[in-house]
Amino acid sequence: MNIKNKAMGDITGFLKIKKKEAGNRPVVERICDFSEVEQILNSEDRMLQAARCMDCGVPFCHWGCPVDNLIPEWNDLLFRGDWKGAYQRLSATNNFPEFTGRICPAPCEHSCVLNIQQDPVTIRENEVAIVEKAFSEGYIKPVPPPVRTGKKVAVIGSGPSGMAAADLLNKAGHEVTLFEKNARAGGLLRYGVPDFKLSKATIDRRLEIMIKEGLTIRTNVNIGIDIPMQIIVNQYDAVCIATGAFQPRNLLVEGRNLNGIHFALDFLVSQNKINGGESAGIAGSVNAKDKRVVVIGGGDTGSDCVGTAIRQKASKVTQIEILPRPPMARNPDNPWPFYARVMKTTTSHEEGCERIWSLSTVRFTGDEGNVTGVEVEDVEWTKEGSGYSMKIIDGTSRIIDADMVLLALGFIHPAQSGLVKDLNVNTDGRYKALASQGHGTGFNKVFAAGDAVNGASLVVYAIASGRRAARKIDAFLRERGK
Ligand SMILES: Cc1cc2nc3c(=O)[nH]c(=O)nc-3n(C[C@H](O)[C@H](O)[C@H](O)COP(=O)(O)OP(=O)(O)OC[C@H]3O[C@@H](n4cnc5c(N)ncnc54)[C@H](O)[C@@H]3O)c2cc1C
Ligand code: SF4
Repeated sequence: MNIKNKAMGDITGFLKIKKKEAGNRPVVERICDFSEVEQILNSEDRMLQAARCMDCGVPFCHWGCPVDNLIPEWNDLLFRGDWKGAYQRLSATNNFPEFTGRICPAPCEHSCVLNIQQDPVTIRENEVAIVEKAFSEGYIKPVPPPVRTGKKVAVIGSGPSGMAAADLLNKAGHEVTLFEKNARAGGLLRYGVPDFKLSKATIDRRLEIMIKEGLTIRTNVNIGIDIPMQIIVNQYDAVCIATGAFQPRNLLVEGRNLNGIHFALDFLVSQNKINGGESAGIAGSVNAKDKRVVVIGGGDTGSDCVGTAIRQKASKVTQIEILPRPPMARNPDNPWPFYARVMKTTTSHEEGCERIWSLSTVRFTGDEGNVTGVEVEDVEWTKEGSGYSMKIIDGTSRIIDADMVLLALGFIHPAQSGLVKDLNVNTDGRYKALASQGHGTGFNKVFAAGDAVNGASLVVYAIASGRRAARKIDAFLRERGK
């Protein structure tokens, strides 16, 4: 098909062109390494996929995207072969499409009008294709701000929210220092998300550009411990707290102190550090090789543990979840265009893991101080009013053998670090209560963004939040500069 002669006006593209995804590397190959699982579609096919965008009167995809990506516009440019124009539209709303294009769960696709037929436009894949082409063609170059404002901003925490805030504030001409307590910048993108979902070279490539644009990054600096918060507040004209939400939910049942039971993030950080050539310290011994691994928690972090344990050559991996198995299709109370709460099978699940739902953990069994199993019971969920009630099913108690247990039960709030103590505020676990004026913490010149405000969330929300904080800080500084 000659795509150049077609126009977006051909609004029947979606009828003629079938959805085509890039696909993943074969399981047998990918479980032998930590390289990215997802492949890249050739440019011609990718442009055709963009042609499936219908030019809807109301682009619900745009409503579904937390960074307000101008999806129909860049799909149109992509369809016409204007990759540079497509990138310009994409980067107008999203600092890091190379991150979201890889690991965003794509609420936009859930809202896509074509998803009424379960056949949405491949928005996320189109996004990553555009940004990767922009890098390979050299469209993305460092562009330092033409003038500096003379204002100094400290951003604490270098995850996607801190990176987004720092990027926009630097581009606005402020002198920005991004502080990070770890050895490298990137936050959970670097130390939480496994390489097989997001290669760390992707983060380094973007950070290099930001540094060439004038951003200062100071790693191995734990604000609140290495430098008191008050000094930062005194030295900078504005401060943005983007420290994430790292306090994991625990499972305080009998046997919790046995060896071999770890928080999911400790396990994932350890492997990410090893992959990145960093010393993982004692955590480096947290390895699943030849072990029967039970992952408690059916969410995405649990799934990342599954993929990592499989690559470490665990002998068996089981993932258990207390909630019931999600439905295969939308329930009536979860209609389009909302995010579909349906059964999700990740690439890690495809690699060989048993998944069990509606299981409550009673206790951990052990021998000589080491975990040997997880005692579980089936539970039943019954709808009660607007919620659900859970009941243990008698006589269903059994033990799942385990040499390693990974707790992937979510995160409750930011770690109660020195920084929180320095601020001397009652955070109710988060900085949210302080965000009385949008993303300002209520403290003179201290703002907050990302998971530190919203609780554990998604990269796209972190970027959106970082962008909002940057706009508030910029307005605050410009107001003060008058
Ligand atoms: C295992 C895992 C997998 C995930 N997978 C996905 C996914 O596939 N898709 C998706 O959209 N989201 C995913 N997420 C969620 C996503 O990574 C987070 O929502 C996002 O990274 C939050 O960004 P943030 O900038 O707010 O905080 P973070 O990324 O948590 O970054 C905060 C940074 O602040 C630093 N810091 C903290 N305190 C201090 C201090 N006192 N001084 C200096 N630095 C400090 C931390 O070291 C960290 O680097 C995943 C999360 C986890 C845990
Ligand atoms: S950032 Fe996420 S929601 Fe927005 S267009 Fe990209 S994949 Fe869709």
